[in-house]
Amino acid sequence: MNRSWCLPIVSDLAWHRMVSRRAGQNARLWLSALVDFIYPPLCLLCDEALVAGEQSVCRKCWTVLPSLYPAEQQAGELNPEFCFDFSIAAFDYQDSMQTLIHAVKYRGYRRLIPPLADELAQAAGDALRLWKANALVAVPLHPARRRERGYNQAELLAERIGVRLSLPVYSLLRRTRYTAPQAQRSRLERRENVAGAFSTKRAAVLAGKRLVLIDDVLTTGNTVDACARVLLESGASAVAVLTLARAR
Ligand SMILES: [Zn+2]
Repeated sequence: MNRSWCLPIVSDLAWHRMVSRRAGQNARLWLSALVDFIYPPLCLLCDEALVAGEQSVCRKCWTVLPSLYPAEQQAGELNPEFCFDFSIAAFDYQDSMQTLIHAVKYRGYRRLIPPLADELAQAAGDALRLWKANALVAVPLHPARRRERGYNQAELLAERIGVRLSLPVYSLLRRTRYTAPQAQRSRLERRENVAGAFSTKRAAVLAGKRLVLIDDVLTTGNTVDACARVLLESGASAVAVLTLARAR
């Protein structure tokens, strides 16, 4: 075959492939723009159409989230028997926060975690520096529940907060028992429900450390208290708690 005849054919083919790939990408972009035009993405909280730069929640709703900043932070307000030093939450667990945390946990809205985690890092940064925190530890999900959800929201929160506050995230806890949801239980039942549900994997790593437990919501405090107890019994010197929201 004549080379000079062949080359343009080959490059023509390559060019044609490149153009059709670009055309495919462009078509997809156009299609998604068209879908957004016909069905504009709506704010999870007020149902108004989102504008460019807004994701999941509009700016107006974001600014009126029920902030608890400057943070409330005494374990004593919860239960004097709790073994963690204090707890800080960025938000009150009211309607709008319930909607957002629900969206994160049950509707796959993991993209809400970074901006929410940033608010928590902002609310708790000074207190954690003063307290001389060494590392963050996420409250674990049972492996079966983690598989079902595809991620553990507490881990994602911890990773983002770790970046923001320059703290390492230790994967130290394991949920050994599948605990039934807490919502329908009495205070005593809730406490018994989580007692013994956690264990630690790497006791040597946590000796003498001041650890910060991270979870999405603090309700009775029994879950984080059970985790804190395991960490302290395994050698941590102190435990504090950060949650996105706190039910009151
Ligand atoms: Zn809104």
